[in-house]
Amino acid sequence: MVNDSSVTPANRLGARLPLPLKRLADLAYNYWWSWTSDRISLFQNIDPEEWQRCGHNPVALLETVSYDRLTQVAEDPTYLKRLQTLAAQLDQYMSERNTWANRVAPQISQEHPVAYFCAEFGLHESLPIYSGGLGILAGDHLKSAADLGVPLVGLGLLYRQGYFRQRLSRSGWQEDYYVDNQFEKLPLELMLNDQGSAITIELQVRQRLVRAQIWRVQVGRVSLYLLDTDREDNDPIDRWLTGHLYGGNQETRIAQEVLLGIGGVRALQALGIEPSVYHLNEGHAAFCLLEVAKLEIQRTGKSFYDVEASVRDRSIFTTHTPVPAGHDVFSADLIDSYFAHYWQELGLSREQFLALGARRLGDPWEPFGMTVLALRLTRAANGVSELHGQVSRKMWTILYPNRPEDKVPIGHITNGVHARTWTAPLLADLYAQYMGEDWSSHVVDPQMWAKVDQVPDEELWHRHQILKDRLVAHTRFKIKHARQLRGEDQGLIQATDHLLDPKVLTIGFARRFSPYKRGALLLRDFERAIRLFGNPERPIQIVFSGKAHPADEEGKRIIQRLMEWCKHPALQNRVAFVEDYDIFTAQKLVQGVDVWLNNPRRPLEASGTSGQKVCFNGGINCSVLDGWWCEGYQVDANGKGINGWAIGEDAHTSDQDLQDQIDSESLYQLMEQEIVPLYYDQDENGVPHGWVQMMKASIRTNAPVFNTDRMIADYVAKMYAPGAPIHMEPILASVPS
Ligand SMILES: *Cc1c(COP(=O)(O)O)cnc(C)c1O
Repeated sequence: MVNDSSVTPANRLGARLPLPLKRLADLAYNYWWSWTSDRISLFQNIDPEEWQRCGHNPVALLETVSYDRLTQVAEDPTYLKRLQTLAAQLDQYMSERNTWANRVAPQISQEHPVAYFCAEFGLHESLPIYSGGLGILAGDHLKSAADLGVPLVGLGLLYRQGYFRQRLSRSGWQEDYYVDNQFEKLPLELMLNDQGSAITIELQVRQRLVRAQIWRVQVGRVSLYLLDTDREDNDPIDRWLTGHLYGGNQETRIAQEVLLGIGGVRALQALGIEPSVYHLNEGHAAFCLLEVAKLEIQRTGKSFYDVEASVRDRSIFTTHTPVPAGHDVFSADLIDSYFAHYWQELGLSREQFLALGARRLGDPWEPFGMTVLALRLTRAANGVSELHGQVSRKMWTILYPNRPEDKVPIGHITNGVHARTWTAPLLADLYAQYMGEDWSSHVVDPQMWAKVDQVPDEELWHRHQILKDRLVAHTRFKIKHARQLRGEDQGLIQATDHLLDPKVLTIGFARRFSPYKRGALLLRDFERAIRLFGNPERPIQIVFSGKAHPADEEGKRIIQRLMEWCKHPALQNRVAFVEDYDIFTAQKLVQGVDVWLNNPRRPLEASGTSGQKVCFNGGINCSVLDGWWCEGYQVDANGKGINGWAIGEDAHTSDQDLQDQIDSESLYQLMEQEIVPLYYDQDENGVPHGWVQMMKASIRTNAPVFNTDRMIADYVAKMYAPGAPIHMEPILASVPS
């Protein structure tokens, strides 16, 4: 049985379920279920406690839950009817031919799909192989590509222990640890050959031969292929090559990027996939361009410089980092140890090879830059918001001497979010009523979103309050659990039952705790903050969440300060920190908050997407005009925000302390004079009509733009389609030989 490669893990799981529940296995093995409106009850109803213990992983749930319980569910006619409907929807979805992409971009074919490379993918909390924004974006990219029918496959790494997990000590200090992923119990399928053994690829890493196997994750109509070196026939050290996401040192990093880039191209070959476009999402996978060149050299017998143009023709690059230090670079020593054999295969000398990654040609101290390599060997490049496009052009003028900054060939496509994943089912249901059952297929249509104005204020407010209740409950649950684990005293553990109040104006702040994101800005003037939080009639409260990079001491200190405030007598019950930020907590937060706060130092936020998620749920953004919010924020004739608030407006200085002072002052004023009064101006039923107007404006103006359906359409039109306008004139990476 096990060796029969025609039997998929979904078949095997289905065979073990009571017959009427068989189709649950197909749903469990396709993450499509996670963006249906039935997602809350489908698996959870089987056994809510087990569901939680399994980390919301449906395969583990179905394998763990007792057969007795399954047969109980199998005799519930309501459940069976729902399952039947959902399974029929899945079948219809998977077999649909008349997709958007088929109509609009038939030239991208299933035979020659787009290959989308990324170091992390954030699809669902049950598959923890993401760290943050980049991964979530990649996950949402796959989901919308799947929904729109764009032929695309994802390429990434399957990390045995994923990204680090966060726990806070009693002193509020972040402690990092790792948890094993059990691949066999995840919705993953190992790719097998006709003989039933794993398809493997080989590559040279650290002067050793390393084999990687390939797992497939089904994301609607899109397949995501993940490489894994944890095989018995590898050296023990190499088995850990795919151990951790962004763990280890520079050496681990280059080894992983060699695997992702070069291994990724070999995996595509081994699977018989011939992409029409290679999309590098961030520079991590840029080595893939070398392997594409190598294949072309082998195929044609031409030289590297003769095939360069054809590599460029098939490749595009998205950059995500607005600071020079954020771009991966490797020392010449590391490049030597990994590529000494490789540049010979490309027919290049060491100098020629190093020049591919050098900002300045002929500078022996120049490290090898992955972004440089990517810009050199792709036909088009983009930043992830308009402002980030500008910043990137400025940052990379050095690669394009003799050109003014605005002629640097880096465009922009502003990020979005997958509406169906991030919209709470309770609001999705409301949208279905007022905008049509198929609202979620028309999320790019502003006229459809304008119908949100027809929703009665009471109705929108009521549903929003339920979601806020849910956020409060989730926060209490997580914090109580954390305090118990930490062995805090009973009083503090019991106090979590009174933590937060769903009636109080609720702010959310969740993201990585990098110093530039200024996680503690709202508490900069402590006395003033206490007056805001502790106001007896019109208080505010805030929920924080997010990890600091393990090496980021300053980020950890910010978290520690927030943890102190959580315990401060004047702020107790008004400030909460949820540990171990993940997709599940993110959903609860973006769906439940009144206000989403974002106060980075401009222009360091390339795009940001969490604030976009909030818009689909009627939350309102209060943010520095950075990243996507520069494009999202709208003002009326008097210059007042109609769909949210802008912190600090356009006051910029290079003095960080002064900038913090200006921005926090602006934030306090917004809170005191606009946000708090608007929220607490409620009618006799507790409905704040002015506020609800702004909620509707937040939905109406942002939802049609900042979604991944629009974003995918942009990528198809501007980047993927053969003959799409090419932003980038080729520049030759060659040095005279
Ligand atoms: C959306 C999301 C992010 C990215 O948020 P930013 O606004 O880009 O900081 C990070 N982590 C998780 C879990 C998310 O859901």
